Amino acid sequence: MFFILKLPFQILQFIKQIRILLFTTLILISCKEKKKTNNEISINPLLSEWKTPFGMPPFDEISSADYLPALRKAITIHKDEIKIIVENKERATFKNTIEALEISGAVLKKITNVFYAVNAANTDKILRETAKTIGPELAAHFDEITLNSELFKRIESVYNQIHQLDLGKQELFLISETYKNYKSSGVNLKGEQKERLKEINKKITILSNKFETNLLDETNAFELHVSDKKDLGNLSESLIALAASEAKKRGHDSGWSFTLQRPSINPFLEVSPNRAMREKLFKAYTHRGDNDNSNDNKKIISELVALRVEKANLLGYKTWADKVLSNRMAKKSENVFKLMNQMWPSALAMAKKDKNALATMMKKEGIKDKFRGSDWRYYVAKLRAKKYSFNEEDTRPYFEFNNVREGAFKLAYTLFGITFKPIENAQKWHPDQQVFEVLENGKHLGVIYMDFFARESKRGGAWMNEIRMQSNINSFVTPIVTNNFNYPAPTKGQPSLLSFSEAQTLFHEFGHALHGLLSNVKYASMSGTNVPRDFVEFPSQVMENWMSEPQVLATYAKHYKTGEIIPAALIKKMNIANDFDEGFRSVEYMAAAYLDLKWHSLKDTTLQDVRKFEANAMRDIGLINEILPRYRSTYYSHVFSGGYSAGYYSYLWSEVLDADTFNEFKKTGDIFNPELSKKYRAMLAAGGSKSGMDLYKNFLGRKPKIEPLLVKKGFGK
Ligand SMILES: [Zn+2]
Repeated sequence: MFFILKLPFQILQFIKQIRILLFTTLILISCKEKKKTNNEISINPLLSEWKTPFGMPPFDEISSADYLPALRKAITIHKDEIKIIVENKERATFKNTIEALEISGAVLKKITNVFYAVNAANTDKILRETAKTIGPELAAHFDEITLNSELFKRIESVYNQIHQLDLGKQELFLISETYKNYKSSGVNLKGEQKERLKEINKKITILSNKFETNLLDETNAFELHVSDKKDLGNLSESLIALAASEAKKRGHDSGWSFTLQRPSINPFLEVSPNRAMREKLFKAYTHRGDNDNSNDNKKIISELVALRVEKANLLGYKTWADKVLSNRMAKKSENVFKLMNQMWPSALAMAKKDKNALATMMKKEGIKDKFRGSDWRYYVAKLRAKKYSFNEEDTRPYFEFNNVREGAFKLAYTLFGITFKPIENAQKWHPDQQVFEVLENGKHLGVIYMDFFARESKRGGAWMNEIRMQSNINSFVTPIVTNNFNYPAPTKGQPSLLSFSEAQTLFHEFGHALHGLLSNVKYASMSGTNVPRDFVEFPSQVMENWMSEPQVLATYAKHYKTGEIIPAALIKKMNIANDFDEGFRSVEYMAAAYLDLKWHSLKDTTLQDVRKFEANAMRDIGLINEILPRYRSTYYSHVFSGGYSAGYYSYLWSEVLDADTFNEFKKTGDIFNPELSKKYRAMLAAGGSKSGMDLYKNFLGRKPKIEPLLVKKGFGK
C-alpha cells in the first residue's frame, strides 16, 4: 500500500505540534557566526543559504556526513528561538507566542525534511547511522518544547482570550490546534510522570528505527536464483532482463535473480510454474522480521505496543487507538470497526468463492496438495487468462513509465490547468530522478522531484514527501514535493514497463503531490497534506478513478514501440479481470487494518507473544489460511515505523470519500466537470486549515456517503 511519508512518527507528531515553518530569514545564518564555530559547520551546505533555482536543495554539494552536524546545530538554533518566546517579558499575544512558535525551528525543519527524504529514497551507511543517532536526540528536543510548562502557560493565555481576539479564521484555527496539541502531548503532567513520558518517547523512536533497519536488512539479504528459463513462465522480457541484471549484480555468471521487493516478487508469483520456488519466495517475504535471528522484529513490536499503551494511559486515554483517533476524522475506533464490519462479510465471502475456484483449477492440473497462499497469484493469473483471455503482461507495453507520468501531468492540466516543465541540470539525490517546475499560466507554483526505480538504497513501496511546505505569512513560499516509487529499472534496450497497478500507484502518489502543490494557506503547519491521516489518502486515491477511464487512458496508455493506444477491448478485459480479484484485495487489506487496530486497542502493558497475538486476531475475524494480512506484524512498517499506527484503516476511510467524489463527477456526465473541479481544487488549496469533515462539507455541501464505494467494490448493500 502506498503511503505518504513525512518523518518518523515520533518526530512528525512533534513537528506538527510545534508548527515549524520553513524558509524564514532565520535560514540565513550569518557567516560571521559560522566562522566562530568549528570548521565543519562553517562549510556545511545544509546550513548555508541555498542559492539554487527556487531554493532547491543543493544535493551536489551535500554529503552524507553533513547531516548530523547540521541537524545538531539546527537543534541549538531552535532552542534559542524557543527561549526568546518563553522569556518574552511582554504579555502573550498571538504574534509573539502562537505565530512565533509556528515560524520557529525553520532551519531544523528545512534540514530534517531533506534528510528524511534522502534517507528513505537513497540511504547509505552514514545516513542510517545518522538516523539512528539523531532520532532520540530530536525526540528529546521536541519533548523539551512540548512539555515546557512555561511555554504552555503563554499558549494557554492566548487560547483563553480566543473569543475576544479580532483575528482571521486561519489564525483562530492555529491557536486552538496549538493549544489542543500541547495539551494532549502531556504538558500538564507532573514530575516523575513527565520524565517517564520523555523516556517512553525516546524508546519508541529507537525501537521504530531499529524495526525499519531490520526490515531493510531482511529484505536485501534474500535472493532466489533461477537457472532454468522455464521456471520464469511467461514473464515479460523487461522483467527477465531486470532479473538477469540483478543476478549479475549479485555475482552470478548467468541465470536470473529475484528479490523480496514487490516489483520482483509479485510478477514471479504470478507467472512461475515452479511451485516450490514460488513457495520459497513467498515464505521469505512473509517471514521478514520473523526468523529468530538478529533482525527479528517480534520483541521490538511487543515492547513498542506496551510503551504506546503506557503513553496513552499517561495522557488520559485507555488505549493507543483512543489517543490516535481523538484527532482523526473517524474520532473513535468504534466508527472504524463499524465501517469495516459493514464490508468484511461481503469481501470474505467473495474471497472464499474465488479460493474455491482457484483450488479447483489447481486440482485439475493434477496437483493433489493443499492450495496455499503462494499459489493464489499464480492461479488468479491463470484463471484470468482462461476466463477472460487476459494476461496482465500484455498490458505492460502500454504503461511505459514516462508515458504514465505524462498521463498524470495531462490529467492535472485538464482538471486544474497546471503544466510541468523539466528543470534542466537540477541537482538531485540520484541521477535517475526527474525534476519538474510546476506552472499555472506561466506562474511558478512549485517543484516536484520524481524518483522511479527500485534499488537497494531505497525503502520499499511508494510515497510522497514534502521538502518545503507552502506558506504565506510575509511572502508566498512555494512548495517542493517528491514522489518515490519502486518500479523495475530500465535495462539495456528495455524501458521500464509498468503493470496496471504500478501505473495506478503513479497516479496515487501524484495525487498527494498535487495536494502539496496546490496548497494556498497562510501557515505551513496546515498546508497541503497536513490534514488528518484518514483524510490524507482521499486526494491521492481519487486520482486512481480517473486513470482507468477510457478517455484518460487514451491520453497516455500508448504502446511503447508502436504508439498505438491501448485497445478498448483490452481495457474492457482488464477491467473485468481486475474486478475478479477484488475479494482478495479487500480481505488482505482489511485483515491488516484489523490487525493494526487490534494491536492498538490493547488496554494493558503485558508483553505479547507476537505470533500468537496475530494468529488470534486473524482467527477472530475468520481470515482464511490462504490469505495473509497485507502486512504481517513483523514487516508492518506503516504501523511500527511509519506513522500509521491505529491508522492503516485510513485508506478505506478515504476510499469512502474518493468513491463518493468521483461518483459526483460521473453524475454530471463529465468526469472533468469544470465547476466541480474548481470546488475540488479549492478543497485541496485549503490544506488542513479546517477539520476533515468541514473540508468535505464545504466541497460537496453534505457529509460523505458510503454507497458509491459499496457499489464500486461489488459489495451491494
Ligand atoms: Zn497514499
